[in-house]
Amino acid sequence: MTEIRLQNINQYFGETHILKNIDFTFLEGKFYTILGPSGCGKTTLLKIIGGFVNQTSGDLYFGDKKMNEIPANKRQVNTVFQDYALFPHLNVYENVAFGLKIKKVSKVEREARIKEALRFTNLTDFKYRDIEQLSGGQKQRVAIARAIVNEPDILLLDESLSALDHNLRVDMQYELKELQQKLGITFIFVTHDQEEALALSDEILVMDKGHIVQAGSPKDIYDEPLNKYVADFIGESNIVEGEMLEDGKVSIYGRAYECVDGGVKSGTPVEIMVRPEDIVLKPLEEGHLNVTVDSILFRGVHYEICVLDEDGYEWVIHTTQKTEEGKKVSIYFDKEDMHIMVPGEKEDEFNERLELYEGIL
Ligand code: ATP
Repeated sequence: MTEIRLQNINQYFGETHILKNIDFTFLEGKFYTILGPSGCGKTTLLKIIGGFVNQTSGDLYFGDKKMNEIPANKRQVNTVFQDYALFPHLNVYENVAFGLKIKKVSKVEREARIKEALRFTNLTDFKYRDIEQLSGGQKQRVAIARAIVNEPDILLLDESLSALDHNLRVDMQYELKELQQKLGITFIFVTHDQEEALALSDEILVMDKGHIVQAGSPKDIYDEPLNKYVADFIGESNIVEGEMLEDGKVSIYGRAYECVDGGVKSGTPVEIMVRPEDIVLKPLEEGHLNVTVDSILFRGVHYEICVLDEDGYEWVIHTTQKTEEGKKVSIYFDKEDMHIMVPGEKEDEFNERLELYEGIL
């Protein structure tokens, strides 16, 4: 078992700077998710760890061992690709056995390991099935079985659930999480689906344009996003502009509110985030802000209600409370549910680091 350390990793494809000064340590035995929009560099980062792309600069360590020059097949890492890359002319058993045969693992050991991998992935009853006769979820399991049969220390999964329909995808999320806990190895999972990231991970790395913008537990990232980008990317959010008055006090539209954040200079412009599920509807004048109900959508477990405040800002609310379109009400949120962000703080920090690093290069 090993921890994975990325040190000042930069990746260029031609002139394009794809990964920018990535520093991160993946601890052993945890479930990590790399989350970010299409094109932000998630897969490239995964490929660097797997040995399929050689980084332009920076170092990769597994434990104390520098891996920069070590080829993919010599790393204790296996990858499950998005398209599963199964052999269509081989059955389930043969697909799982393939890698072990190439490595010339003895027949006795091979059979024991395949049996175990099929058991872990609930495929024992399907071992002689042709690949074409499998469902999407079963194919996905074969791809995982084929990877874990090699007993890797690290399993990399690239958008592995994206080909599945919603219900199957949710089932597979449970299975994947359970599998990681049973195997106790490091999983690094790439997705652009924030709900998937929240459900699966011990730790989420949120990426944007080649940077890791924030890393932390799902709860940290959801409750304490570092900036608007993360707040918007993870879940829905209402973000209004305001000003820090003093520690524990912030103003929104010129009205003072108690909050639990501090450490920001008085007079600093801030952004205040409130999650839709933390807003309560109250009769007019009884909450923080008077609003008019603009639209109501029934979402199954809650109503999604859009309301307009007197400054024209549209708040999104998730609630089981009932109301009517056009009605004037007011909205209320607890001080613990207001999260204060200082715009540009993190971006500036990144830009400074980037300039410094590019200067060295
Ligand atoms: P997606 O979610 O769409 O898979 P991603 O975040 O995984 O996106 P990457 O696949 O890492 O993104 O790609 C990041 C950028 O690097 C993209 O603009 C892509 O076109 C570019 N890129 C990736 N691989 C190569 C390559 N081998 N040569 C040139 N450009 C590449």
